[in-house]
Amino acid sequence: MIQTVAIIGAGIAGLTAGCALRKYKIKVDIFERSDSVTEFGAGITLSKNATSLLRDLDLFDELETSSYTPKGSFIRHYKTAKQIAHVDFNKDFLTADRRDLVHILSKRFLDMGGSLQLSRTIEKVEAKSGKLIFSDGENCYADLVLSCDGIKSRIREDIFDSTEPRFTNNIAWRGVIERSNLPEFPGNDQVNIYHGPGGHVVHYPMGHKDMVNFVAIETRENWEEESWKREGNKEDLLKPFKGWNENLQNIFSSSEKVYKWGLFDRKVPKLLSKGKVFLLGDAAHPMVPFLGQGGCMAIEDAFTLAVLVDKFKDDLDKIKVSYQQLRRTRGNLIRQRSKFQGKFNHLSNPLLMRLRNLAVKLFVKPNMENIHSYDAIKEISKVA
Ligand SMILES: Cc1cc2nc3c(=O)[nH]c(=O)nc-3n(C[C@H](O)[C@H](O)[C@H](O)COP(=O)(O)OP(=O)(O)OC[C@H]3O[C@@H](n4cnc5c(N)ncnc54)[C@H](O)[C@@H]3O)c2cc1C
Repeated sequence: MIQTVAIIGAGIAGLTAGCALRKYKIKVDIFERSDSVTEFGAGITLSKNATSLLRDLDLFDELETSSYTPKGSFIRHYKTAKQIAHVDFNKDFLTADRRDLVHILSKRFLDMGGSLQLSRTIEKVEAKSGKLIFSDGENCYADLVLSCDGIKSRIREDIFDSTEPRFTNNIAWRGVIERSNLPEFPGNDQVNIYHGPGGHVVHYPMGHKDMVNFVAIETRENWEEESWKREGNKEDLLKPFKGWNENLQNIFSSSEKVYKWGLFDRKVPKLLSKGKVFLLGDAAHPMVPFLGQGGCMAIEDAFTLAVLVDKFKDDLDKIKVSYQQLRRTRGNLIRQRSKFQGKFNHLSNPLLMRLRNLAVKLFVKPNMENIHSYDAIKEISKVA
């Protein structure tokens, strides 16, 4: 009988799984190694495939209040900023401040009676018995253990495979500016994407605090930093984007601080569960963020697993087979497509760039729709 679930990690995957399981009154403990539930102060886009699930969990309205709802997305020429294509969004696409998202999720989890233990690092898990061993030597047992511990997942390394995260030759520069500093141009209040040679840039208003988030992707040979994320220097950001549209230069320059992240990737393991342990979110299928889907996949995983637990009750084998069937192909597909999107966005041969822009004009809408229209609830209903 599945009565207790232990979740390792209070990121988007762990917190969403916590809320989704509490809906079915399952006892849930989340163990987080940090001393607070915090996120990096940056934006996140959430598309319909994820927000429809947050709606089902009764989390959407609160998130919508603190988020921004862009009307659509412009894909633009990197130099002239001329529109290449435009895609309309419906009201299900949100741009949020990550801190608001995790705050809403963690507060709801606690309100639903979940237990969240901070400064609790899990050293090891025994897959067969569901035993969790903490860094201070204590231990506990759970009927299911959800490994939501991110791309560097220790649990995955111990139990599933030993593949290392690999640098993808991309770094993401991130910054936030006040909306009053955003240059005036038609569509500046929507999601704007600039495909260029050797990189791409995205900016959008986020949250309710009149802020604009930007992400600038630069291709690079090496990531020589010790940490995966660090404060960067504006001159180093401006250099690779020299010759790009002036508005972008102005956006970068008006950011008080800029941060750079090495973007890493890790193959999806053959199995997403072993014994009593399941992998969710970046622990299962980390991906480059070029389709804005890593967090959305974490929400899809979390929601799916909770519904399967309720649907198949004590039949662990059935839960495992169904989770594998529903989540591995989907996670891997979106991971591969995100990777391809990077190659596509970063073409630098002028002829190929022209062909790329034509392809964007023709296919960006059906491509986005294809990803965003995935309906996890419908897919779950198909597994008997
Ligand atoms: C530049 C950039 C832009 C992005 N933009 C988007 C976007 O617009 N839309 C989108 O959907 N996605 C986006 N993503 C992807 C998204 O941020 C991630 O996919 C998502 O945050 C993964 O959540 P997670 O909960 O799986 O992992 P994490 O957020 O990594 O959480 C893991 C948690 O586990 C904890 N932990 C780790 N080990 C242990 C342990 N041993 N014991 C206890 N706790 C532990 C960690 O402290 C952490 O809190 C972007 C990513 C990047 C880098």
